[in-house]
Amino acid sequence: MTPVFIFDLGKVLVDFDYTIAARKIAARSDKAPADLHAFLGSSPLLEDYESGRLTRQEFYDAVVRAIGFHGDLAEFGGYFAAIFTEIPGTIALHAELRRRGFPSYIFSNTNDLAIEHVRRDFPFFAHFDGYIFSYEVGAMKPLPAIYEAMEKMCGRRGADLIYLDDRAENIAAGAARGWRTILHETPEQTRATLTKWEVLPTH
Ligand SMILES: [Mg+2]
Repeated sequence: MTPVFIFDLGKVLVDFDYTIAARKIAARSDKAPADLHAFLGSSPLLEDYESGRLTRQEFYDAVVRAIGFHGDLAEFGGYFAAIFTEIPGTIALHAELRRRGFPSYIFSNTNDLAIEHVRRDFPFFAHFDGYIFSYEVGAMKPLPAIYEAMEKMCGRRGADLIYLDDRAENIAAGAARGWRTILHETPEQTRATLTKWEVLPTH
């Protein structure tokens, strides 16, 4: 049976840099960029947001209270989500897999501000059979619930899934379910693994 491809988003298909958001948000708040970056990295707010425990509005309200942001939610959202750049090599690999007839899915720890931005700005994002987002499922990788949601959506299990992610703990949770996994480092290395597995031809 043709395997299905499960793609992580961040650091696989798009790169991201929260320091960009921290600088822009800090300029409109009572905090310095470094303090804000440290706050975003250490506060449980982002995890609560990406686990679906906070809505966009609740996340924004909590950030405003914590850092004294002076703009509205639309302004905040524009800065917060404008942190992504495409990774052309993986996007090309995904396009090739689609041309060869492999179904593909997005499987991401993320939030609705980020997804709104990525969907609007990056055409490649439309070309998947389905999307599993942590904030919709209410669980982040590597919790089992989100892997179960992925299996349910694609209707496949075990070695029928080929899963790419840059984080070892996420990959380990997939491998434990029998998924074929690739700890993604570069598009070239991932392509080489798929060739070795004879999922892609040598030429
Ligand atoms: Mg990632």
